[in-house]
Amino acid sequence: MSINSNLRVNDLFQQSATLPFSRVHIGNDTKSQLQVIVAIHSTVLGPALGGCRLLNYSSTSAALTDVLHLARGMSYKAAFNHLSYGGGKAVILAPAKIVDRHALMVAYGDFIESLNGQFITAIDSGTGTEDMDIIAQRTSHVVCTSNKLAGTGNPSPHTARGVLRGIQAAVKYALKQDQLEGLHVLIQGVGHVGYHLARYLHERGAKLSVSDINQQALHQCQDEFAATVIAPEEVYATECDIFSPCARGQIINADSMRQLKTKIVAGAANNQLSEGHFGDLLRKKGILYAPDYVINSGGLLQIACIDNGEDLAQAIDNLYDKLLTLFERSDKQDQATNIIADQMAEQYLNQHQCDEPIVRRRKQL
Ligand code: NAD
Repeated sequence: MSINSNLRVNDLFQQSATLPFSRVHIGNDTKSQLQVIVAIHSTVLGPALGGCRLLNYSSTSAALTDVLHLARGMSYKAAFNHLSYGGGKAVILAPAKIVDRHALMVAYGDFIESLNGQFITAIDSGTGTEDMDIIAQRTSHVVCTSNKLAGTGNPSPHTARGVLRGIQAAVKYALKQDQLEGLHVLIQGVGHVGYHLARYLHERGAKLSVSDINQQALHQCQDEFAATVIAPEEVYATECDIFSPCARGQIINADSMRQLKTKIVAGAANNQLSEGHFGDLLRKKGILYAPDYVINSGGLLQIACIDNGEDLAQAIDNLYDKLLTLFERSDKQDQATNIIADQMAEQYLNQHQCDEPIVRRRKQL
């Protein structure tokens, strides 16, 4: 594996210094078309665990920015939930056309194995359990493998269940009610997580609007949940009780801030705030924001509970109380919810600083 030739080395060091990072690994294997960046933000609490995205990026620099922010989010997600994992993430830069997906995943598996357990890979946008099964042929540092391998499978329903509990906590705190019946929820992105979330909300009588660039996903929600379809360019200006971003990051920005007509932002997407200070602006606008890496931690909790033999349903239910505590602290300290979440995660990380990074062998899930 050699350094990817179209990455400007200065960018790499500048960007990885901003967060700051423990390690950034780059793999390039022409034969299998593999171009991958693995960012390891922290191994203070345990081996870095994070999904692998397989997406088209406009540039290598965009992929690097994505993976660095995602990896940091994983460290904070584990720390916030007091889990013994570090934070990491992988992005595979999707080639224009994948010639042999099996070979691509084999090469990625070999690359993960070469990291000696510092990083455990999982599913993310663009990858699935079948990919994890192939990776598992080359390394034990993989989760979300299929039932065939007695793995944890796709975490999305658990993530969606956590988002539901987060929405319920936000509704309780901001709207002073327990029921979701009749509330208007707008879900941006009805993919793996968004679809399950729509189902859970529909079962509880919420009125649903959905937006996606995938027409088939939209039709399914119209048919199954009587959801109203909103065009992507009209999402932010659509009035709703709860806006649930479940597609992509950076969607709370100067442009969307001007348009938002909601009381709550609570969804699964990672890195929702394009910059941290948008959390404060949301607060000033009277919009309650459920921090992304807290509300979307159901998938990570699933892996942790299976690893430790703990009760997953209870762990996900607990997100309700964790978020209520966070919202209360935010008001008490007059600080944005994302700042409070960061403080809580950093406090836990600081308490567990140790000299040597923890690298341990784990059973395959
Ligand atoms: P996914 O790829 O299955 O679904 C994303 C959906 O968003 C797709 O249907 C896609 O067509 C749609 N989309 C893309 N661009 C859009 C746009 N501009 N407007 C509207 N829709 C758009 O991904 P997922 O697994 O459901 O994850 C969704 C988000 O939640 C991602 O940010 C992911 O990182 C995060 N997340 C997922 C999990 C999980 O368990 N899957 C866990 C934590 C966080």
